[in-house]
Formats: sequence, structure tokens, C-alpha cells
Amino acid sequence: MARINLEHIRHAYGAKPKSESDYALKEVHHEWNDGGAYALLGPSGCGKTTLLNIISGLINPSEGRILFDGTDVTHLTTQQRNIAQVFQFPVIYDTMTVYDNLAFPLRNRRVPETEVDRRVKEILEMTGLVSWAKKTARGLTADQKQKISLGRGLVRSDVSAILFDEPLTVIDPEMKWVLRSQIKRLHKQFGFTMVYVTHDQTEALTFADKVVVMYDGQIVQIGTPAELFERPRHTFVGYFIGSPGMNVLPAEIAGSTASIGDQRIALDFRPEVKAGTKTELGIRPEFISLGREGMPVAVTKVEDIGRHKVVRARFADRPISIIVDEDGEIPAEPRVTFDPKAINIYADSWRVGGEA
Ligand code: ADP
Ligand code: MG
Repeated sequence: MARINLEHIRHAYGAKPKSESDYALKEVHHEWNDGGAYALLGPSGCGKTTLLNIISGLINPSEGRILFDGTDVTHLTTQQRNIAQVFQFPVIYDTMTVYDNLAFPLRNRRVPETEVDRRVKEILEMTGLVSWAKKTARGLTADQKQKISLGRGLVRSDVSAILFDEPLTVIDPEMKWVLRSQIKRLHKQFGFTMVYVTHDQTEALTFADKVVVMYDGQIVQIGTPAELFERPRHTFVGYFIGSPGMNVLPAEIAGSTASIGDQRIALDFRPEVKAGTKTELGIRPEFISLGREGMPVAVTKVEDIGRHKVVRARFADRPISIIVDEDGEIPAEPRVTFDPKAINIYADSWRVGGEA
């Protein structure tokens, strides 16, 4: 297992990048703890695979260094870095049996056959492939092949880190849940450093201790699921996490008051905002109360989604979402209040002030 340091990493696929927009990965400078379970979360094209491949050594970054436990590995291969990587689509040997496919990474490292057998049997159990062990991989379905791929990534217990790139894409939803729980269990048992790429917030939030949110070639926040929910550092994290995401409303800030249209909202802190920045107020739908007191809203739509309702409304001429209890009533002249503790203020999309 290893602690991983990414030092001022930037990457452009084309030669001679000129401007920021030529970089698929802008500036990444972070430390990933030994034994941590990280999820790399972000929309398609934001640079997740690029970053993962830089960590594994499949890509040499245009700039910056990578250290494993303090040693520079920037120019070492994946094998030299001792990394296991599981890709989105199966990478297996079609002519080998399922058993031999799983045994391959161990035999390659000259692990004694008794140990190979013990580990392979564990992985066969875990992936539900016991009865397929002696079959060649060729005849299997896409999701069975992907389970073999996953198994090959998990079979060794001496790796520096295991990297997963959207590994459950081709797996059916129920099995997805089972496999994800098992990966998590293996993490608890062996303490591997794991990095798990996904564009699915539920997958990220249930897998990881720390979620790394990426947007447009940058890491915008690394935090626990609770931190990302309560204190999004960037408005993108606010929108992207939560269902529906955070309401982000243009606001003027003066002292400890935010004005949205002609509504005044008292803040419990004084955000320091430089003149000329675009300022916004963020409040999650969970922290707006709908009732007879507060500021007026016009309800446009109510969506009943089981345990609660999502109310879509207009507030100061802007659309907002509010979450209310399943049996919560919507008064004839509805009004809202914002929980002051749940208000975040943003300047040019980055969070300012308030409690950390
Ligand atoms: P993600 O995995 O988050 O979907 P990627 O890391 O694959 O994102 O891609 C990040 C950006 O780099 C995208 O704009 C993508 O088009 C570009 N890109 C990815 N791979 C290559 C490549 N081999 N050559 C050129 N551009 C690439
Ligand atoms: Mg990708």
C-alpha cells in the first residue's frame, strides 16, 4: 500500500499546449493517504480517466511529479509501480479458463501454487463465478467477463494501490450493489489504497471515505460525503451532489445581509467578498422550510417521490427546489425560510467565509 502524492500535475494530449483550455488536466496537487478509499467523481470528459492513468503510469503527465511513499515514480511503468487497474470493459484472456485468468497476476509474480489456489477460490466465491471456474472465458457474457476483470484486479494482496475506472458499467444493477459492497469489504479487510472512478454520485458516496470531485480538468473538492453535502466548496459540487442539487441564486452581499431580488436574508456571518466578483447564495432544498412564514414563493409543481416531495417554485423570480415531508402541507399563500446554518455564499463560484 502506498501514500500517493500528485505534485503540480498537468496534462495535455496535444503537443505544445498554449492556453489553459489545451490541458485535459489543469493543475492537480494533492496527497492521497495510504489505505484510503477514494472515489473520483465527475461528469463525462472532466479528466477522471486521464488522472487515473497518470497515477497508474499508463500516461506520462506533461508536467509534474508523482510520488509513492515519497519515492518519485513519474517515469516508472504500471508494473514497476505495482498497481492493479480495472477498466470499464473486460481485459482478459479469452482462451484461458476463468480460474487461470484469475491466477495469472499471481503466477506472474511467482506466488506459490497453494497460495494461488487459496486466493483464486476466494475471488471465485466473491464474484459468483465458482461454477464457471473450469470454462474458458470466451463463452461468457459481457458482465461475467467484467467480473473476471474485477477479480484479476483484486486477487493480489501486495499491490501499492488498486485503481478502478467505472468498473461496474456493464454489470446489472443488483450485482453492481453486491460487487461494490464486496470491494468495500476487501478495503476494510486489507486496507488497500483504492481509487474508484465513477460519474454516479450514489456509487461514489457509498463507496468512499473521501470523494474527490472533478470538474473541467480540475479537482474542485476532496471531502467526506457530509462535507460535500453541507459545505460545497464550488457551486458545481452543490449542483452535482444531491437530488435535486443545491439551489444557487444570484445574491448581492452587504455586510451580513444577502439580497436576492427584493428579498433580504440575514446571514450568521460576514462573507468577505471582493468588489467586482459574481456573488451567489447556495441553499440545499432540504434546508428550506415551506410554510406560512417568511418570504413569498409561487409553487409551480409538486413531485411526489416516496419518502418526500420535491416542490418546484419561483422565488424572487428564480426557480428553486424545496424538499418537504411526504405529508407536509402546502399552504395557499406559501412562504419560505432558509436555515441560516445551511447557507453558503459563493464568489465567482468558490465558497467564501462562514464556518468550515
Ligand atoms: P473522463 O474519464 O472524466 O470522462 P477523460 O480523462 O477520458 O475524461 O478525458 C478528459 C478530456 O481529455 C476530454 O476532453 C477528452 O476528450 C480528452 N481526451 C481523453 N483521451 C484523449 C486522447 N487519447 N487524446 C486526446 N484527447 C483525449
Ligand atoms: Mg473515463
